[in-house]
Amino acid sequence: MKLLEGKTAIITGGSRGIGKGIAQVFAQHGANVAFTYSSSSAAAEELATELTALGVKAKAYQSNAANFQAAQDLVAEILKDFNGKIDILINNAGITKDNLLMRISEEDFDTVIEVNLKSVFNMTKAVQRTMLKQRQGSIINMSSVVGVKGNAGQTNYAASKAGIIGFSKSVALELGSRNIRCNVVAPGFIETEMTAKLDEKVVEGWRAGIPLKRGGSPEDIANACVYLGSDLSTYVTGQVLNVDGGMLT
Ligand code: NAP
Repeated sequence: MKLLEGKTAIITGGSRGIGKGIAQVFAQHGANVAFTYSSSSAAAEELATELTALGVKAKAYQSNAANFQAAQDLVAEILKDFNGKIDILINNAGITKDNLLMRISEEDFDTVIEVNLKSVFNMTKAVQRTMLKQRQGSIINMSSVVGVKGNAGQTNYAASKAGIIGFSKSVALELGSRNIRCNVVAPGFIETEMTAKLDEKVVEGWRAGIPLKRGGSPEDIANACVYLGSDLSTYVTGQVLNVDGGMLT
C-alpha cells in the first residue's frame, strides 16, 4: 500500500517550484491532490493532467491565498469536488520582495506578510471545521531557514516565516486533543524560480555554508512532507523540521 493512498491533500502554490514537487510526489504516493496557483494557469492545468495520469484525482484552482474569503470559498469548492474530505493541508504559497530595511516600502512589507503568513491563517481556519469533524488531519506549513535565523535584506520575508512557526506551534496546542497535527518544514536553499532570482555570488555564498555542499531540490522538501502528512508521523506535532542540508547545524 502506498504511503498516502486514499488521502486528500490541499497544496497552496502548486503550479511550480516546491509546491509542484510536493504535488508530484504526493500523487506518486497515492494522494488525491487539490492545488492552487496565482496566475500560472497553463502550468497548473498541465500538472493536473500529469497527476491524473498517475491514477489519482487532481485539480488545479486559481485562488489568492492572501484573501480570507477566497480561502473559505476555495475550501468549500474542494470539499464538493473531493467527497467532503481533507486529510492534509500544505500551506506552501509564498513570495519574496527583498530590500534593505532602509529601502523597503510599507506596501512590500504588508504584501509579503499577507501572502506568506496571513494565507496560513486563512487556509488553516478554512479547513479547521472539516478536520475537527473528521477527528484527524495533518497541517504542514512552509517556513524557511530565514524564519529561524533571519537574513539581511529580508525583514518582511523573515518576519512572515518566523510568524508561521509561532502560529503552527499554537495550532498544534489548540487542536492536538482532536488528533489534528500541525508541523512546520523549514527549507534551506532550494533550487526553484524563487532562488533563481538571486545573484550568483550570493548563491555561491549560500552553497559554501551548506554542510552537504549542494542546494536542495523540491523533491527533498516533498519527501519531508510525505513523512509529516502520512501515518508515519502520527505522534509528531508542533515541530519544525529543517530540511536544509545541515545549514542550521
Ligand atoms: P516559487 O517557485 O516562486 O513558487 C511559488 C508558488 O506560490 C507558485 O505556485 C505561485 O503561483 C504560488 N503563489 C504565489 N503567490 C500566491 C498567492 N497569493 N496565492 C496562491 N498562490 C500563490 O517558490 P518556491 O521556491 O517553490 O517556494 C515555495 C515555498 O517554499 C514558499 O513559501 C517559500 O517561501 C518557501 N521556501 C522556499 C525556499 C527556496 O529556497 N526556494 C527556501 C525556503 C522556503 P503562480 O505560479 O501562479 O505564481
